Amino acid sequence: MKKDDCIFCKIANGEFNTEFILETDKIVAFRDINPQAPEHILIVPKEHFENIVSIDDKELFCELLEGIKKVTEKIGLKEFRTVINTGKQAGQTVFHTHIHILGGKELKPTFD
Ligand code: 5GP
Ligand code: ZN
Repeated sequence: MKKDDCIFCKIANGEFNTEFILETDKIVAFRDINPQAPEHILIVPKEHFENIVSIDDKELFCELLEGIKKVTEKIGLKEFRTVINTGKQAGQTVFHTHIHILGGKELKPTFD
């Protein structure tokens, strides 16, 4: 299902002609508009799910996780951080679930 006012629904369904690093039947990956590292990519399901725990499709889970491998192999990124924010308190700002991949520089310790 697509949510009309959701930016990632629009991007994932090609409404802005965003360059996709990866596209399958169920997911897309594209560069973050406000990168926090030299490589900052978002892996996003085409279907709207508010967050990672609202996904009820096991195949989609697998595809999202496989997306990490596919995307990083494609761009030759061997060391990277993977982040999934769930809820406002955790820093989620776009309420269409996504996996961040960050890399290309030394990153600060994960938990501070
Ligand atoms: P969150 O804070 O929800 O985990 O991450 C949302 C991410 O989406 C942020 O890093 C933000 O820069 C990115 N973002 C927000 N709007 C857009 C957009 O229109 N295009 C792209 N490519 N990234 C976006
Ligand atoms: Zn959406």
